[in-house]
Amino acid sequence: MLVDYHMHSDFSEDCFTPMEKTIEAAIRKGLTEICFTEHMDYDYPDPDFTFELDVAAYREKIKIMQEKYAKQITIKKGIEIGLQPHVLEKNKQLIEQEAFDFIIASIHVSDKKDLHSGDFFVGRTPSEAYRFYYEELLYCVERFDHYNVLGHLDLVKRYKTLDTDENFHDIIEAIFKEIIPKGKGIEVNASGYAYNLGTAMPSHDILSLYKECGGEIITIGSDAHKSEHVAHRFPEIIQQLKQIGFRYLATFSEQKPTLHDINKFI
Ligand SMILES: [Zn+2]
Ligand SMILES: [Zn+2]
Repeated sequence: MLVDYHMHSDFSEDCFTPMEKTIEAAIRKGLTEICFTEHMDYDYPDPDFTFELDVAAYREKIKIMQEKYAKQITIKKGIEIGLQPHVLEKNKQLIEQEAFDFIIASIHVSDKKDLHSGDFFVGRTPSEAYRFYYEELLYCVERFDHYNVLGHLDLVKRYKTLDTDENFHDIIEAIFKEIIPKGKGIEVNASGYAYNLGTAMPSHDILSLYKECGGEIITIGSDAHKSEHVAHRFPEIIQQLKQIGFRYLATFSEQKPTLHDINKFI
């Protein structure tokens, strides 16, 4: 068994790979199940990017792909929604209107400023930026329940190196204590390796903290925007999760998790 629960196609603003190409790469790599998680990032601050998904076209395309590849691989319909305090209500309306198998909630924009462009870091020390980012995530999870896992929880690390030894476990623990009782999980996102973080996201200490807080729901995703990144570095990530003590990996149908014995995954 091998699954990839975070991947993009040309339905996402920042991806130019047709779905078929990624599906065929997944089949070649022996994956049994994949979930597309296209971007829907309301009120993205960069005017050059809209990050708004054509929901009807996506629904139709997924249906065609599910039928075309039915004998070879299971394909799920997911979405990656961007969390920002002022778009929570809009996200909720979308999720209530459209059926998805799986929803990742991610922060790409904090304080209404883009992390990717670096605008968010202007006028803040790295420490201030990290704290603001995690506190905004806590604010959102206290007020929003329309998702299944939090995406790349420590993404802020990708864009700015910290110059102190803070780990922000106080806020991250508060986030876990908020989400775990509600049946929400986190993902392990392999793209940290592709972006030279030297680790998946979140990092080992945060995964251990999640385990200590009683977290069990965990998905694994490549965040592939190119077909060659499908299931990138998964064997070592699965090994790492086993070492921490995680016993299951989750897949989702209609937003309901199924927990699979982690030893079944290669
Ligand atoms: Zn993301
Ligand atoms: Zn993504």
